[in-house]
Amino acid sequence: HKPGENPQVNPKLKEQHLDFTKGLVYTRFPPEPNGYLHIGHVKAIMIDFGYAKFHGGRTYLRFDDTNPEAEEGRFFQSILETVRWLGFEPWKITYSSDNFQQLYEWAVELTRRGRAYVCTCSAEKMKEDRGMGKGHPVPCEHRDRPVEESLKQFERMKNGEYPEQGAALRMKMDLTSGNPYMWDMVAYRVKLAPHHRTGDKWKIYPTYDFTHCLCDSIENISHSLCTVEFIPARESYEWLCDALEVYKARQYEFARLNLQGTFLSKRKIAKLVTKKLVKDWDDPRLYTIIALRRRGIPPGALLSFVSELGVTTSESVTEIKRFEASIRSYLEESAPRLMMVLNPVKLVIDNVPNDYRVPVQVPLHPKVPAMGTVTTSFTKEVYIDAEDFRTEDSPDYFRLAPGKSVGLFKAPFPVSYISHSTDSTGKVTEIRCKLEDDGKIKKAKAYIQWVNVPDAIKIEEVRYFKPLFKSDPPPADFEADVDPDSLEVHKNAVIEPAFYELSKQAISDAREESEERLKKAKADSAPVDTEHKPIEGSEAAK
Ligand code: ATP
Ligand code: MG
Ligand code: MG
Repeated sequence: HKPGENPQVNPKLKEQHLDFTKGLVYTRFPPEPNGYLHIGHVKAIMIDFGYAKFHGGRTYLRFDDTNPEAEEGRFFQSILETVRWLGFEPWKITYSSDNFQQLYEWAVELTRRGRAYVCTCSAEKMKEDRGMGKGHPVPCEHRDRPVEESLKQFERMKNGEYPEQGAALRMKMDLTSGNPYMWDMVAYRVKLAPHHRTGDKWKIYPTYDFTHCLCDSIENISHSLCTVEFIPARESYEWLCDALEVYKARQYEFARLNLQGTFLSKRKIAKLVTKKLVKDWDDPRLYTIIALRRRGIPPGALLSFVSELGVTTSESVTEIKRFEASIRSYLEESAPRLMMVLNPVKLVIDNVPNDYRVPVQVPLHPKVPAMGTVTTSFTKEVYIDAEDFRTEDSPDYFRLAPGKSVGLFKAPFPVSYISHSTDSTGKVTEIRCKLEDDGKIKKAKAYIQWVNVPDAIKIEEVRYFKPLFKSDPPPADFEADVDPDSLEVHKNAVIEPAFYELSKQAISDAREESEERLKKAKADSAPVDTEHKPIEGSEAAK
């Protein structure tokens, strides 16, 4: 629709809708609970919740739970938790499955109106009839069967008399249309797996295409916001509401968030997890929200990144570099600066006395004094990273090498190279230096991290990760493209003690916060379970 054009043809339905909403904006965020949310969902959540919030409206969190096989309780819980972690509170929490009875009755009504039929063609035959190879669809023998017969067959489907894939209820749409979404889409299929919420009550389940628009209708959604790949689906969305003469929401589309070198799809991520190609849903190489959170990215940084990208309808792929720069600039003012050495090599400073150990208070952040200070002691022996020293110097190298000086962060003076020793394999085992404490070298060309030897805390394991896939973008056969070297584990890293103190504090804060959030989520979702009646004043209630 062009802006301003109203697709609502029936003035009476429009009136009923406005009676319910009082003209407020009603939106929904409708994830399928088949996995943990990813960074693409941050965008959808911000648009769905943000648009309504901006206009003083309301947003449902609707679990689109029409696929019994893929859904698990932990996914419902984590989706709600993630929405809250990002700072949004659903007006109501609903489930597509709440409407199974109503949807079923509408399917019967659609059939009665001659707008749906039961088809027992095989999946292959259906695919072929829908135009595969021929370029246009052809009707199958079931399309014009009598209404009574379809009703009887649909009843048999419901009673579990058909195996999975044995029969489907198809909408009788428009085979002459140029839009494949109008080619007699499936409305109901047989599924024998028990459903997470309705158990084994149902043997038939509505498809996304049948469910989505009707749930929007039941919930009186004013703006049905979705991603651009649903533009062609808008015609069938409206077709179904019109065929049943129920309130029809207006669909608006926005471009998906795509990230370079990876994909954002719960279904595909689930494959990586079940095939153990990543450790779990929070593996740091994934762009799930729990993984990003585990990497220490606060919700505000994700919101700020998505805001920077803006909302348009043109598809684009955002570079990982841009994502990282955005997160870094968000953290710039709030992240404390502490030192860690990944691959330690000992640096001995000749002109510092053996027992020299003067604690100094150093600021946690060079530009934010309010963050406070930590204690660091400078000593004769310190660890530096093996990467910060080269046995052969070159003009474009500014760290430590024979004949060179380098600055040690937060230390009083730079140090200059004297000598180094190696083991039988040529690996550097120790470097000797001199502290330039006469003030001749004012400012070093580069500063490196260090940890003093007596206070160094050894870290059990440091994980360092690179892109998960070898190709960019990952190919269709993405499982074979996983780079086994994308996760490096370092066993020798050391940190300064302040790091440990701060992270102990941060961990206990985070634990408290998450326990509180869980408690709140539980308290809030408990009454929701008793609230699954159709919403007062909605089509369903009538
Ligand atoms: P699946 O692979 O199971 O389809 P999904 O990752 O596409 O999972 P959905 O549950 O289908 O997630 O999506 C929930 C909502 O989030 C939908 O409204 C969808 O349009 C939106 N969404 C999903 N992926 C993105 C993305 N990359 N950018 C913006 N919005 C997205
Ligand atoms: Mg989906
Ligand atoms: Mg999807």
